Amino acid sequence: MPGEIRGLNEECGVFGVFGHPEAAQLTYYGLHALQHRGQEGAGVVTTDGENVHAVKGHGLVNEVFSENQLVELVGHASVGHVRYATAGDGGYENIQPLLFRTQKESMALAHNGNLVNAQGLKNQLEAQGSILQTTSDTEVIAHLIQRAGNVYKEEAIAQALSMVKGAYSLAILTETCMYVAMDPRGLRPLSIGKLGDAYIVSSETCAFDVIGATHVREVKPGELIKIDEDGMKSRRFTSKIQRTLCSMEYVYFSRPDSDLDGKNVHASRKTMGRKLAEESFVEADVVTGVPDSSISAAIGYAEEASLPYELGLIKNRYVGRTFIQPSQELREQGVKMKLSAVRGIVEGKRVVMVDDSIVRGTTSRRIVQMLKDAGATEVHVRIASPPIKNPCYYGIDTSTSGELLAATRTLEEMKEEIGADSLHFLSTDGLESSIHEGEQSLEHGSCQACFTGNYPTEIFPSTIPPYEKE
Ligand code: AMP
Ligand code: SF4
Repeated sequence: MPGEIRGLNEECGVFGVFGHPEAAQLTYYGLHALQHRGQEGAGVVTTDGENVHAVKGHGLVNEVFSENQLVELVGHASVGHVRYATAGDGGYENIQPLLFRTQKESMALAHNGNLVNAQGLKNQLEAQGSILQTTSDTEVIAHLIQRAGNVYKEEAIAQALSMVKGAYSLAILTETCMYVAMDPRGLRPLSIGKLGDAYIVSSETCAFDVIGATHVREVKPGELIKIDEDGMKSRRFTSKIQRTLCSMEYVYFSRPDSDLDGKNVHASRKTMGRKLAEESFVEADVVTGVPDSSISAAIGYAEEASLPYELGLIKNRYVGRTFIQPSQELREQGVKMKLSAVRGIVEGKRVVMVDDSIVRGTTSRRIVQMLKDAGATEVHVRIASPPIKNPCYYGIDTSTSGELLAATRTLEEMKEEIGADSLHFLSTDGLESSIHEGEQSLEHGSCQACFTGNYPTEIFPSTIPPYEKE
């Protein structure tokens, strides 16, 4: 449908271990800590140095792996993945790690992010005789590595990565080595840790804490790391690098106990809340946040506004994220099931309701209604990020531009639509300064394209076609 630009849908978590006798077990715990990054599928591939072993399936980490299966995943090294996908993209074959076997060796790939030139590369690969088995971008990387021919694996990976564009935080496992790579823009997070002599790779640092590992450093944009029996070696596969880490990782996606570019996510969100209060103070009695992702920003707002922070909304944590429900109708049901307003706290009060973002507006509209039904006299909505007006091509599902509330409406129209007494979004300057507060250099840039429309990479027309066809 022309004009209906579809954002792509892979918000995933990558985890890997090299050099530990219980690699699969550690990966299982690591993936648990990354579960918020994807709930539709999970997989682990291990190697014992000679053979690779794989288990993957639909569902949550604890639904996919039984204790017996973990025991069968023998080996000292592993890569694991949790996956989020939307309709049409959720087939078993797309669940990662993707495992490819050749006569020479095996290769398992776990990828977070989306490539912007995948469609063009798929067309080329098919024209040259490749048979693609999945609809995932990750398979393109595998074919390109294989096609590099008779060069060292590391060189083949470097050559493949020089052809793909977009976002990729990547862990690749063969029988004997692990390779870790990040796109030249560093759009998605990926860090290296250590547990004794073992190397750990994780999308987020919160998973290091869970397994008792130490965070060593971030993988750098444009970096290709090789880990094997001899330790870890690093090289750059391109010189054109500029970190533009996704700002939605700070706003919503990452866990508050993770650090991104050395900054704690909870602390960054609190700063967003404080700046939001500076930008849009309103007379009120209490501040409440939408659990869980907005609590930090709400605390920051309350501190800055000298208002009490209260638990005006309670979440039933056993209901999945609203956003993952495929239809609007189901999503609305999901919101009802997920959150309740606490009458004893909001009744007769002027409430500031802080949320981290508005995508379609469903959550805000229902929560304003819920707070009013519970007796709030006024509901002032404060959003700790700028209006999302553009789709994301780098792996966060910000939906179709037609569905984005802010894409076609003024602030006043949005306020009316969600039924709030007032509405304010954090400015792009406010977001930028919250993320980079206290930084001396511009080494750590951030992507804000869904707010500003300034994409940090070229966007290929072929990124859009699968969703434009009628
Ligand atoms: P919506 O109801 O469509 O306006 O979605 C906004 C809510 O979804 C906010 O409360 C966010 O916490 C959450 N959210 C924002 N971005 C995403 C995303 N990419 N995936 C899932 N949920 C999201
Ligand atoms: Fe993140 Fe938005 Fe950039 Fe996508 S467009 S990478 S969601 S900041």
